[in-house]
Amino acid sequence: MTKKETFYLLNEDDVDPQRLKRERERARKLRKSQWWLNQVNLGVCYYCQKKFASSQLTLDHVVPLARGGKSQPGNVVPACKSCNREKSLDTPVDQLLKKLKNAGPTESE
Ligand SMILES: [Zn+2]
Repeated sequence: MTKKETFYLLNEDDVDPQRLKRERERARKLRKSQWWLNQVNLGVCYYCQKKFASSQLTLDHVVPLARGGKSQPGNVVPACKSCNREKSLDTPVDQLLKKLKNAGPTESE
């Protein structure tokens, strides 16, 4: 038997170190672009929609690089520090699932 019985949640191509390195480099450049400056100057967190000083906003990948996301407008958004920390490696789908779970009637937190 040579068939592998492993079921990775992460796609092997997505976590390829070369790809991650390339995308991180791209994010670094994007952070210096006029496009990004315009985003943070608007001063609105993509997730909570609250207003922040541009220095309080961080560059966040909507779909994390490790989950196949790319460093490009459309997947890169300004996020406040608390949203960014909360989000971690979640994709928008994960976030939605969490919200649905938390909305259960037996919530005790
Ligand atoms: Zn926020």
